[in-house]
Amino acid sequence: MSEQNLIRHIIGGESRSDERTQPVYNPATGEQIAEVVMATPKTVDAAIADAARAQRGWRRTGMVKRSKVMFKVREIIDARQDELAAIITREHGKVHSDALGEIARGMENVEFCAGLMHHMKGESIEQVSTGVDVKQIRQPVGVVACITPFNFPAMVPLWMMTTAIAAGNAVILKPSERDPSAANWMAEVFREAGLPDGVLNVVHGDKVAVDSLLEHEGIKAVAFVGSTPVAKHIYKTSADHGKRVQALGGAKNHMVVMPDADLDSAAAAAVSAAYGSAGERCMAISVAVAVGDIADDFVARVKRQAEGLVVADGTQADADMGPVITREALERITGYVAGAAEEGGTVVLDGRGHDLPDRGFFIGPSLIDNVRPGMKVYDEEIFGPVLSVVRVDTYDEALELINSNRFANGTAVFTRDGKTARSFEFDIEVGMVGVNIPIPVPVGSFSFGGWKDSLFGDTHMYGPEGFNFYTRRKVVSSRWPEASDTQLQMGFPTH
Ligand code: NAD
Repeated sequence: MSEQNLIRHIIGGESRSDERTQPVYNPATGEQIAEVVMATPKTVDAAIADAARAQRGWRRTGMVKRSKVMFKVREIIDARQDELAAIITREHGKVHSDALGEIARGMENVEFCAGLMHHMKGESIEQVSTGVDVKQIRQPVGVVACITPFNFPAMVPLWMMTTAIAAGNAVILKPSERDPSAANWMAEVFREAGLPDGVLNVVHGDKVAVDSLLEHEGIKAVAFVGSTPVAKHIYKTSADHGKRVQALGGAKNHMVVMPDADLDSAAAAAVSAAYGSAGERCMAISVAVAVGDIADDFVARVKRQAEGLVVADGTQADADMGPVITREALERITGYVAGAAEEGGTVVLDGRGHDLPDRGFFIGPSLIDNVRPGMKVYDEEIFGPVLSVVRVDTYDEALELINSNRFANGTAVFTRDGKTARSFEFDIEVGMVGVNIPIPVPVGSFSFGGWKDSLFGDTHMYGPEGFNFYTRRKVVSSRWPEASDTQLQMGFPTH
């Protein structure tokens, strides 16, 4: 690979290399297009030292100036979003419109953060005791690590780093090594928007880099999004090293289709939520729960629509769905589909038989009916374009099924009945719920997060909870005594 195709770290505003590298592929062609450097613990040390220096200046920078950086970031990304979307499509594979959608969801947080003067406001009480006032202020935690997954190379970093920076922290962003270029592109944008060097650093790498970050005393908070086994490791190791941590994990999102639902719109919603972005969304629907006697009809409608999807290179204008991220992912997904019949499932649609490009990491949409807990396709997160259908007789069975699942990121109910929708909203043990909406992703002024094995930690990500995560509260009690207030008091104050 030429020097031009080497994706380097950005530390203290400078591009830096490392000896070890890893190939980066275009999943639509299967070809290697670049190489990314992999950080050693020494590189991580250097990045944290630079970030700590920069953070001392950044937290002293006026909030109005910080807010202006956010406005400028918004303006630049908005004007150049096609460029960023093309980078995402080239390394991730998702279709251009989907890449633009991810950028739009990330930008919502940039917009939210531009209002940082409001979000950083504290509280105060006058006259708690005679002449004593108390206030609570928010201060940044210091240098934070943001570790992100491959499936949203722009949105997830924009959720984490923007909030952290707005709150006055410095960031070490460790993006996925499978699609690392979007992170560098965004770091350049923040710089162009006026962010001082060193406040946002991009360190590329794998477990070596991540573990160095988790164990380093210079890192005060860790935000992570990725698979559940790694999320557990991040949560535990960060806690062992005394850091605050939020670690979002995997998902198995169920969509309940009630007998009274509008089946056409439910089927269309299932197709877009199961197969959009080749099923590589943490909010993808991977299980449809058909209640009562609508299952045959629902499955037939999903099949009809899924069969017509155009699976192609994401740069192609008519592509509905691109490739999956790697050859290993393709083999893993294929294995689930191939094994489904043996486990007792009915393979209604086999993605291997879809009209597919003859190179790249492609598989078409698969639909497996008569799936039950205990089958691998049900129990495990596939993270590919595979929709399982579980048939149940009643609403209560659907509720029990979802509440028994170890994952609890998102879920949805399709019904025309307000009482059913309200009961679902009340009883379901899942962090994000859609009512006649298949991917209930919160908007910028709410935060994002699941329950159970989908989130380790106690705060959700970005938005208002993000500002809680990235700040420490400090309580200041003050009194301005009169010259005559000189009496000695040895007891604990009773007011
Ligand atoms: P992943 O867990 O493999 O990787 C995530 C990050 O962790 C990457 O930066 C990677 O370099 C690093 N990493 C990988 N293995 C590691 C290890 N052993 N030790 C330390 N660090 C390690 O996840 P992925 O494949 O990039 O992303 C897909 C997963 O992310 C899916 O499980 C998906 O559900 C999940 N996800 C969840 C959400 C959510 O909001 N809950 C959002 C997006 C993605």
